[in-house]
Amino acid sequence: MRKNIVAGNWKMNNDLSQTESLLADLKVQTQTSNAEVMVAPTFTNLYQANEALKASNIEVIAQNMHFAEKGAYTGEISASMLKSIGVNTTILGHSERREYFKENDELLAKKVDAALANDIRVIFCFGEELADRKSGNEENIVEGQIKNALFHLEASAFKDIVLAYEPVWAIGTGETASPEQAQDMHAFIRKTLANTYGVEVANSVSILYGGSVKPANAQEIFSKPDVDGGLIGGASLKAEDFFAIVNAF
Ligand code: PEP
Repeated sequence: MRKNIVAGNWKMNNDLSQTESLLADLKVQTQTSNAEVMVAPTFTNLYQANEALKASNIEVIAQNMHFAEKGAYTGEISASMLKSIGVNTTILGHSERREYFKENDELLAKKVDAALANDIRVIFCFGEELADRKSGNEENIVEGQIKNALFHLEASAFKDIVLAYEPVWAIGTGETASPEQAQDMHAFIRKTLANTYGVEVANSVSILYGGSVKPANAQEIFSKPDVDGGLIGGASLKAEDFFAIVNAF
């Protein structure tokens, strides 16, 4: 059966000493849910975070990676570099990468392939913009993003894929998709998976919701049958809030 997952995306926040203090705060939190918990510090703090959280059940993951194994890609980080410091999961396709760094479906398909080839699990993000939702086009957009970046994969690859539906209009805006909007889209995503890969694969893939999840709204969102957890931005920067969300399961 699919897993419940709560992952914190710290984005470009926290220098080393701020990271150390957040890690110390995380370690004293108590987990009462059965969710898998992950945090994604910035690249410069991944090693430190992994060392600090080794004895905990919090997995340290990356926010991004490059598709090439090595070479002349100034400023980039490869899958094998992540593996070499014990990082086994990465976020890919976050809307901020798509918007500010022009990452498109074709590039993301290459990144997904590189991650899977290196045994790195992928949290694949996608979601419509406000104009798409206003024009009723959200399902077409989401279907295209998933199909273009992932549907060249064999069914067996989906054991290492987690999907994260993140409507762009709800990220960092304080505006959240209603639990019903999240459920409707997650059910649509699962149906899209089932149509190509079958019901068994569709039911085995965790689909996370992301977009202004907070302690106050997490429980209602997570209670929906097709919502298997959350990708948390702002609220993951405070250990207490993050664990209130983890414990909302
Ligand atoms: C995100 O960036 O993935 C995210 C969900 O951010 P926030 O929780 O701050 O909306």
